[in-house]
Order: sequence, then structure tokens, then C-alpha cells
Amino acid sequence: MAEMIGTTEWVRMLRGAVEQIKANHAMLSELDSHGGDGDHGTTMVRAMGIVEKAIAPVEDGSSNPKPGALLHEVGWGIMGVDGGATGPLFGMFFSGVSEVAGDEDALDAAGLAGSFEQGLASVRKYTKAQVGDKTMIDALEPAVTAAKCAAEGGSDVGATLLLAAEAAAKGAESTKALRARFGRSKNVGEKSVGTQDPGATSVALVFKGFAEGVSHLA
Ligand code: ADP
Ligand code: MG
Repeated sequence: MAEMIGTTEWVRMLRGAVEQIKANHAMLSELDSHGGDGDHGTTMVRAMGIVEKAIAPVEDGSSNPKPGALLHEVGWGIMGVDGGATGPLFGMFFSGVSEVAGDEDALDAAGLAGSFEQGLASVRKYTKAQVGDKTMIDALEPAVTAAKCAAEGGSDVGATLLLAAEAAAKGAESTKALRARFGRSKNVGEKSVGTQDPGATSVALVFKGFAEGVSHLA
């Protein structure tokens, strides 16, 4: 069971993401204050409130949904979060992940990577942004690629998540040098160079939280 991600592991991963965002929300809003409207941290905390609401009954043992049902609730809940781009983007991600999680009790590393890949595909229904456009895609796409490569190379779920988190962090870092071509910060043009993209930073924190949540498996 240690090599699979079931409901227990997903709850730990989601809890890890919640804690990372809560600890860093001020920094996220500060990053968003340069090219955007300074609300990204607040919106992410709101999104994580939805996550907490979904995982609380599992954590206290009063509910035991399949991972797919839990992630579906998370995705649809986040999609409804007010605050511009973040709700749909992160909501679509979790909703895509839930499609692959489906009715299964648990996913192995390859299944998990496949679920992240579907998460990215769903985000792409919302935005045409590509790597290099200084958005959350700059962290998400490398994270998905790293997870796929790790799983195909035989990594277990813990190692797969660690490699995905590292790639997301590197991708987020890469946005510092970029000029925004999507979202509000597109309006500040060249002035967006030098600041790390808030959405990409959130993706990196979420994947860091995921990896921490199952670090006992790595
Ligand atoms: P808003 O810009 O609507 O206030 P947030 O501040 O919550 O939303 O989130 C901003 C982040 O959302 C950006 O840093 C970027 O990563 C992401 N983002 C915004 N618009 C887009 C878009 N069209 N495509 C991809 N990502 C986007
Ligand atoms: Mg904003």
C-alpha cells in the first residue's frame, strides 16, 4: 500500500498544500502586488479553505470517499472561489486530476503522473498560456513532465512527488526573468521582469506540500 496514493495519502498531500499556502500567503500577495492586484495570497487561502472543508471529515474519520470523489469536490469547490483567474485555474487542475483518479481506490506513480497530466490538460481548456508566458503553466508543465519521467523510470510515489516539486520550484523561479504575456501583469509589460509569477509560485508550493505530505513514503 505504501507504493500507492489512496484517500489517506491524498488527504495528507492536500493538507501539505494547505499548510504551505497558509505559511506563504503574504509573500504570494506581495508578488501579485507588482504586476497584479495584490490578491493572489488571499485567493489561494480561500481556495485552501475549500480543500480543508473537503478533507476535514476524512481527517476526523467521519467520511471515507474514494480519491476521485474527494478531488472532484475540491476541484469544483475551488472553481467557485471568487478572485479572478485562480479559482478556475486551480479548480480545473484538481477537476482534471479527479477524472483520472476516477473510481479507483488508489493510484501508483504512473497513475498519479497521469492524473497530473490530465490536470494540466484541463487547465489548458481555460488558458492558452505556454511555458515562457510567465504564468502558473511555467511551474505546472515541468512538474507534470518530471512526474511522468520519474514514474516511467520506475520511481515510487514519494520520489515522483519530490521530483515534481523540485521541477515546479525551478519553473516558478524561471518566471523571474520573464515578461508576462497573460493575466493582469501583462498590462505592466517589461516591468513584470524581475518578479516571480505569483501563480507559478503557488503551484510550486502546492507540489511542495504534496511531496511533504507523503515524505514518509519517499
Ligand atoms: P487575478 O490576476 O485574476 O487577480 P490571481 O491574482 O489570484 O488572479 O492570480 C494571478 C496568477 O494567475 C498569475 O500569477 C498567473 O500565474 C495566473 N494567471 C492569471 N491569468 C492567467 C491566464 N490567462 N493564463 C494562465 N495563468 C494565468
Ligand atoms: Mg491578483
